[in-house]
Amino acid sequence: GPTARLIRLSTPSRIVPGLVKGRYLARRASSTSQNPNKEAPVAHHHRPPSHHHHHVTYSETDDAVPWLAKQPLHRLSLADLVNAEALLSSARFTLSLLPIRLAHRIQALRNLPYIVVSNPNIRKIYNNYQHSLSTLLPWQGRTISNLEDEIRFTEVLAELVQTHTDTIPILARGFLECRKYISPGEVTRFLDQHLRARIGTRLVAEQHIALHYSSSPHFDPPSSPTPCPETPGYIGVIDTALRPASTVDSCGSFVADICELNYGVRPEWFINGSPETTFAFVPTHLEYIITELLKNAFRATVENGQSKSPVEITIAPEPPSSVTTPITLSPPSVSLGAFNKDHIQPLDDNAPGVTIRIRDRGGGIGPEVLPHIWSYSFTTFSENEDDPPGAWSDDALSVISAASSGGSSIAGLGYGLPLSRAYAEYFGGGIKVQSLHGWGTDVYLRLKGVGRIE
Ligand code: ADP
Ligand code: MG
Repeated sequence: GPTARLIRLSTPSRIVPGLVKGRYLARRASSTSQNPNKEAPVAHHHRPPSHHHHHVTYSETDDAVPWLAKQPLHRLSLADLVNAEALLSSARFTLSLLPIRLAHRIQALRNLPYIVVSNPNIRKIYNNYQHSLSTLLPWQGRTISNLEDEIRFTEVLAELVQTHTDTIPILARGFLECRKYISPGEVTRFLDQHLRARIGTRLVAEQHIALHYSSSPHFDPPSSPTPCPETPGYIGVIDTALRPASTVDSCGSFVADICELNYGVRPEWFINGSPETTFAFVPTHLEYIITELLKNAFRATVENGQSKSPVEITIAPEPPSSVTTPITLSPPSVSLGAFNKDHIQPLDDNAPGVTIRIRDRGGGIGPEVLPHIWSYSFTTFSENEDDPPGAWSDDALSVISAASSGGSSIAGLGYGLPLSRAYAEYFGGGIKVQSLHGWGTDVYLRLKGVGRIE
């Protein structure tokens, strides 16, 4: 249990700078009876008149949702994430944000048409959010005041993060099943907001988990994407010297493997420009984007019969002063302003960034396809050759099944571009697609570093 684990923390003052050992022990002694799951009050029970939109039975946490969802979202700054003075304040800070963020998502799900929320897959996601909120609420009535609390809290948090891992294929399947009842535009509007908010929520949680595990080599790291304890150059989940060329190469060989399985061909790529460039960024975000963009480039290359033409990836560092205006190219389906309050802002506008151009000779994107590429679920990929191209694909279900079982397909979910753009815009970057019809496609990925870190 936590007590046994605490014994290994023989020098808490080293682990949490500024936390004096004597004070820590005193606090710990006074708090041994505290059990957040038993003692804490279940938040504020503000009982509004029953005005639920849907005839769905909600669980007990319900009562807290309208109240929490009315609270303004804290506007995060990167300083909040990386300069957390100690684990305890990081844990308290994390706890202060998450219930509100979860409640906003729950409310957005409730605002979907009843028939959509009733779909078993959407319902599953909804229940998962409810479960997460009801797990965190008991922690809110107390203060995380010692490392024992912090350890327990982090364990709970890691578990919650884990339960939300497979959200995307489940949502994809749910909305596909509901496509008779909700328009692609509405789906995209919901998903864009939902998945952008999810990026932030996961980042907040994972940042605390990573800070926790990197604070002491005695902690056992979870299998999550958190870096190994004390990885040099990492602050939480942020790699302060991330080298995009390395990400391109590792994602490139992964995507080439998938191509080989799908088409029996292994497309090639090369990097030019300034491959030595490094910047501060969240590696998992960059990996997601690069993997999706390379899948698109490789697929187009192979399907266009150009397997001998390597994909060209040009990396250009962005001088600090020029990064002040984020690019907004293809207009996002929901205005960015709506997300700003939900966004983690870069620590300083002069943070160096990088632009990555991915150029393929895959024949470009047809004018009939181009208007749809930023819609969730839109794909021209089909395993069934008789399907009309450019539809919201019916056999996407097999792609979704592959995705749910942890596999990876070359294409077909139709989430690659819109979700990559959501990740890129998160820290003030963007994605621009330039198609040269009949020839190929240039994708400009512009990323802003997450800021100067002292
Ligand atoms: P998916 O790859 O699952 O179809 P995406 O969102 O990644 O979904 O892409 C949507 C569509 O945009 C693709 O189905 C394809 O028609 C088109 N597309 C994207 N990138 C390229 C590219 N580099 N060359 C040609 N078409 C592309
Ligand atoms: Mg794709």
